[in-house]
Amino acid sequence: MPGLVDTHIHAPQYLFAGTRVDLPLLQWLTTYTFPTEAKYKDNDFAEEVYTRVVRRTLKNGTTTACYFATIYTDTSLLLADIIDKFGQRAFVGKVCMDMNDAVPHYKETTADSSVPESLSHISETEEELKVVENMFPAYQNYTDLYDKNKLLTSKTVMAHACHLSEEELQLFNLRGAAVAHCPSSNFSCFSHSTLNPIVRSLLWTDSLFSLSALGLDDVIGNFEVGKEFDALLINTKASDSPFDLFSADTFEYLRGCSSNKNCVNCPADVCNSAQEVQRCF
Ligand SMILES: [Zn+2]
Repeated sequence: MPGLVDTHIHAPQYLFAGTRVDLPLLQWLTTYTFPTEAKYKDNDFAEEVYTRVVRRTLKNGTTTACYFATIYTDTSLLLADIIDKFGQRAFVGKVCMDMNDAVPHYKETTADSSVPESLSHISETEEELKVVENMFPAYQNYTDLYDKNKLLTSKTVMAHACHLSEEELQLFNLRGAAVAHCPSSNFSCFSHSTLNPIVRSLLWTDSLFSLSALGLDDVIGNFEVGKEFDALLINTKASDSPFDLFSADTFEYLRGCSSNKNCVNCPADVCNSAQEVQRCF
């Protein structure tokens, strides 16, 4: 099957994946996330976690990913080096943040210039919406803030987008911007998510659609002649397989139920040597 695509993943947060889900978004950021991300100034610390997240996502079949790193340029570049070393296809975004009163040592002293290819967050919780409204009263809404600053384009992938108005969704459509929607994250952060189907919303159910938002749908995503080969070899009869296959089962069943136990071969470049292959499996 084609390799899996993750359109929004925070590499530094892999350190506490699956835990610390007891606070609403803004408190979660200041209590857990920013203090943790501040540690990635340290090269050795970053190298260990970033190596693990790249290896783990690859092992779980994610051959393409769009990563957030932290505000630190050196270790963001280190993440890119690690991705290259293990052969994952990825985009890496350095976090830009010049306002952070809650964790003052984790912010930049100058504002970075706007970038035309953006990965960011929008309208994740109602509390966050109010904060943005108070900080930027001159803008019509959250989407207008990005748009007027030229950050809402066909190369933009915005995470969450749980509370966009009809008007904002229309603007997303007009600009060709995409939404990376994560039901489990929205559930954990008390976002009370609603998913509006009129924008390009990227869910795990459609790899090719996700790739279109990353500008890679002409490169990978299926096995059309001329595309790069990007595939996972799945053994449906692996001895510790977490599902049973019946004759009428479809590709969707396989995609939804299989795990890394069925992934019998990672992308060729992942393994640098025979020894590496042994460690992987
Ligand atoms: Zn995010």
